[in-house]
Formats: sequence, structure tokens, C-alpha cells
Amino acid sequence: MSRAMYAVIVILMLAAGNAPAQDLALQVDQQVTELQGQILSWRHDIHEHRELSNRETRTAALVAEHLRDLGMEVRTGVAHTGVVAILRGGKPGPVTALRAEMDALPVTEAVDVPFKSTATTEYLGKKVGVMHACGHDAHTAIVMDVAEVLSGFRDDLPGTVKFIFQPAEEGPPPGKEGGAILMLKEQVFESPKPDAIFALHVISGVHAGKITYRPGPLMASADWFYITVKGAQTHGAWPWRGIDPVITSAQIISGLQNIVARQIDVSKQPAVVTVATINGGSRKNIIPDIVEMSGTIRTFDEEMRADIHRRVEHITKTIAAANNAEAEVTIEEATAVTIDDAALTEQLLPTLRRVAGASNVSVQQRVMVAEDFSYFQQQVPGLFYFVGITPSDQDPAEAEPNHSPGFYVDETGIMLGARSLAALVIDVLQAGK
Ligand SMILES: [Zn+2]
Ligand SMILES: [Zn+2]
Repeated sequence: MSRAMYAVIVILMLAAGNAPAQDLALQVDQQVTELQGQILSWRHDIHEHRELSNRETRTAALVAEHLRDLGMEVRTGVAHTGVVAILRGGKPGPVTALRAEMDALPVTEAVDVPFKSTATTEYLGKKVGVMHACGHDAHTAIVMDVAEVLSGFRDDLPGTVKFIFQPAEEGPPPGKEGGAILMLKEQVFESPKPDAIFALHVISGVHAGKITYRPGPLMASADWFYITVKGAQTHGAWPWRGIDPVITSAQIISGLQNIVARQIDVSKQPAVVTVATINGGSRKNIIPDIVEMSGTIRTFDEEMRADIHRRVEHITKTIAAANNAEAEVTIEEATAVTIDDAALTEQLLPTLRRVAGASNVSVQQRVMVAEDFSYFQQQVPGLFYFVGITPSDQDPAEAEPNHSPGFYVDETGIMLGARSLAALVIDVLQAGK
């Protein structure tokens, strides 16, 4: 919808008696649009000064200073570097939360933008480039801006808004805690507890100007598994004098593929079991005594997730036993299924359509990667949606995906992100739920 048409509709609504509600939504929308220069300059600054998970100190300081300048109650150091601020509106109403992530990735940027990140840092003992290759710089800038605009309408806001700037969405360093789980442990949802939570994610492969959403399971759970197969070492020419963990591992890999291919109901929800690494042996004529493997499990259903975990362990151990080998299986749960609340999504779909234009809002296919926003959604109803950032003249299939060195953000998508998030807050507060 054009801005002119939107204005006409609002005028008609004013005449129909929806005056104050629609007036506030329109004013907020205009204000967000007017602050475009500021959102983009924040994004460029954060992009250039990108920081890895659990190290987002500069970004957090920038965010906290801004929120304090707006006169909000600000808590810092949540889950290491997280920032949480509360905006209390002048009128009674529900509590709504917005989440933005602040961390970047160990990726060397290949896109030539003026605010490109060029410095290197150390990650897991290696020197790496660091880049906002998932667009979290855009998310932080968007929510900083929404905070500013909404605080300008504080007296008219019917309710409270909690702004959550989260560290380590990409996962804390090995062996460390972080992200949404640690924020929840540190009471991010206490005093006050939100009634609903919202977040968006910029996504490559969807044109700028478009929004995609999906009620119910949207993004997969992600778990890691580690398998050690123990045999008995022998000469490669005398296999009968030992126990071969290599051939046992080959059978285990095939067996694990049968979980998805033959054992679970894939007409209910899809799933993936991937063996991604396999290591064993030192020489062409020695059968080793150990082979180690690791991989990942993805599901869209918590019951199916638990079922697959049991099957991975059962198949691995049974095949090992059939070969007189032994197997150890460790499964680490990493991220839950991201499930958009169906009622909340239905309630707010008209808002997304109003802001983006109905033809620009469509249902998203399930996404096999994971999001730790899922843990917030386990506590309160949440809506997580995607905002396209691929230039409209580019073939979406050609766009480099999130996490790649060529990940590129068309900034018109950022502005739709900010407008839609601000509109969701206004509409959910005005609806009183
Ligand atoms: Zn990511
Ligand atoms: Zn991300």
C-alpha cells in the first residue's frame, strides 16, 4: 500500500470513529520512517565494530547509553553483555517484549560496503575475520530505533514495553553459557513478565519489501550428537584378528539415515539426521581401534525430537553390538523448535499486511536452521517473522545466504522491519493483549 493510500484509509477510519487508535499507529509509523538516517547510521557503526558472541561489550554500551538517554529503566550485564530496558506507558495495558540479538560471526566479509568490517580477532585459537553475516546489526539498530520512537509517545502508550538486547544468539563459546537460556535464568522475564514477545529476522533470498511468517513450527530444533565406536586394532590384512570400527561406523551411518527415511512419520513434520564428521585410522594397512563421528539432528516437533534421540542411541549401540564393537553416544540439546503462537499470529497478520501491503506478506516454508528465540516462546506467546533484504532486481536463488561472506542487506528491508515491529507493538498494546 502506498503511504498516500494508507493516509486515506486512516482518514476514513478517523471518520468511522477509530480516531485515537489509528492516529497513534500512523504517527508512530511516520516517526519511524523519519528516523531512517539514524537507524542506518547505527547499523553501519555496529556492522563496522562487530563483536563475537558473549563479547558484545561495545555494542551493549552503545545500546545502554541510548536507552538511558531516553529515560528508561536499564539493566546491563544480563547473560554477560545483554541489555534490558523497560518503557512504562502512561496508560494501563499489557506488557510486550521485543528481542534483538547483538552478536556477529567468525566470517571474513567479502562484500565491499563502506562500513565493511576489516579487523581480525581470535576465535577458538585461530585468527578470524568477524562479520555481521546474520544481520544482527540491523536487528539491534531497528529495536534501538523503535525504543526511541515509542518513548516519544510514552504518555499515549497503553501498557509497557520491554526491550531485550540479547548476546550470543549464535551460541556461546564451547563450554560457556549464554544467549536466551542464560537471559531467562537471569530473570529477563521477571518484573514485569511479558504477555507476548516479538522478534524479526532479516533473511537473504526474500526480496526487500516482503515479509514472511508461519504460524506454528517455523524453525527447527538443533541438537548435536557425538559417537565413539570402539573396536580392536589389527593389521589391515588380518581383519578377523580384531574388531573393525570403520566398517561398523559405515553401517551406523546407513542405519542413522533410516531413522528419517524409514522410521518416523515425515508426513507429520520433516526431520534431518546428518553425520557431519568421521575420523579414524592412521595408515592404509592398519584397522584402527577407534572411530569418532559427530552430527546434528533437526526436527519441528518436540516429541519427534525426543523419539529421534532415542533411535540414534538405539541404532548406534545395536549395530556396534552386532559387530562385537562398543559405542558411546552423547547428545547435546542446543536449541528448541521455534513455534509461532497461532492465535497471536492470526491477531497480528492484519498489522503486517497493513504495513507491508497485503501482497508482500506470505507464508514462509519451514526453515531447517534454528533460533534460540524458541526459549522465550516456551515461556510466553511469541511471533518471530522474516523480513526480506535481497535487492528486488536480484534473483533470490542467487543471493548469498545468511552466515556467508557475501551476505548483503538491502536497507529498504531494514526500514520495513522497523515499521512492522513498531506497528506490532502499538496494535498489540491497543488490543489490550
Ligand atoms: Zn545466524
Ligand atoms: Zn540470526
